[in-house]
Amino acid sequence: MNNLNEHYRVLLGLDESWTVSDVDLQLEDNSVVIELSHRGGPLTCPECQGSCGKADTAPPRSWRHLDTMQFKTEIRAAVPRCRCARCGVKTVAVPWAGKHSRFTLMFEAFGIRVLQAAANVSRAAALLDLNWESVHTLIERAVARGIDRRTLDEIKHVGIDEKSLGKGHDYVSVLTDQDHRRVLDVTKDRTIMATDELWQTLSETQRNAVESVSLDMWQAFMTSTSKNAPGAEIVHDKFHVSKYLNEAVDKVRRREHRELKSEGDERLTGLRQLLLYNEENLDEDGQVEMQILQKSDLRTGRAWAIKENFRHFWLSADSESAGEFFRSWYGWAIRSRLEPIKTVARMLKRHLPGLLSYFRHHVTNGLAEGFNSKIQSIKSAARGFRSFANYRLRILFYCGRLNLLPEIPCH
Ligand SMILES: [Zn+2]
Repeated sequence: MNNLNEHYRVLLGLDESWTVSDVDLQLEDNSVVIELSHRGGPLTCPECQGSCGKADTAPPRSWRHLDTMQFKTEIRAAVPRCRCARCGVKTVAVPWAGKHSRFTLMFEAFGIRVLQAAANVSRAAALLDLNWESVHTLIERAVARGIDRRTLDEIKHVGIDEKSLGKGHDYVSVLTDQDHRRVLDVTKDRTIMATDELWQTLSETQRNAVESVSLDMWQAFMTSTSKNAPGAEIVHDKFHVSKYLNEAVDKVRRREHRELKSEGDERLTGLRQLLLYNEENLDEDGQVEMQILQKSDLRTGRAWAIKENFRHFWLSADSESAGEFFRSWYGWAIRSRLEPIKTVARMLKRHLPGLLSYFRHHVTNGLAEGFNSKIQSIKSAARGFRSFANYRLRILFYCGRLNLLPEIPCH
């Protein structure tokens, strides 16, 4: 048995203070229990790293390890407790597992890889033979580790977005790093408090170094951002603007469609989706329909033309020519006699500095570009979610680009 013991000692990366005292193969239930024992000698305090003597031994406990062949493998050990003059009695750190973990470091690393590769969390849980609670713990530890390591990164361009959660009016706010295309954090709601909380995921040094924040024209986001990232410039980009303009066109269409229908006129039937497209993305039939609409005397056609025209704003060479473009576009919109369009035009005018900032930073919305579908798939896979905390962890696990893997010591 000695060779097998030595084999496990090397595999587990144990240092000289630990020895494999027994390997118990339990053939009837396909499992292996590896018994470890401490050799004695001086101990290191887990808090202050000071050298200290032994107080006593904690009751034996076990850690799930990587399967050996097809045998479910468990490490069992009674860990000594040291008596530190400064910190009191503490259980010493073990080389094979992280603090408070029920898994060995190698199992954690493997579990993280399986979770990353599996199509969904329940599939990974089945592959790893873990229950939901344990998978949750694994994800939680990995994310905490990743966030901890992220505190030194320089983060220059961020975005804040709202995302609706489910069918009701539940919203979450999402902070993204636009340079590294990753989600930095998620909080429940879209209030000032929720946004403040979002900013807390960055250190003060990081917050002060942020150069631009791309966000929706939502007052809570703006108020919190000026407070938490005082050096950052607020940018409203084309995704935010086109969202409002599309909504305005749709309001005009709905109202006009109702009026026409009551007179038996079906000209606006089935146009809703078409009106959301940019002109160049329309197929031939769509282009013909839009030409007919524009030549008609319908208000919807005018609203659509005003929306489409605003896209030239983003093509301006610099903020000066963009400002000029805006003035003439604004005049057109205000004279349009289309209330929803006028409302958006006034809002854009109020936020003009943020719109013009785009020409200094040229940032676009990370969430709209990449994370939306990923977050959506997490949301729909998450019907069984017990809490928001769970949802947040999974977004950070899958979209946070965090350095999740534990460091495994080797001897
Ligand atoms: Zn200590």
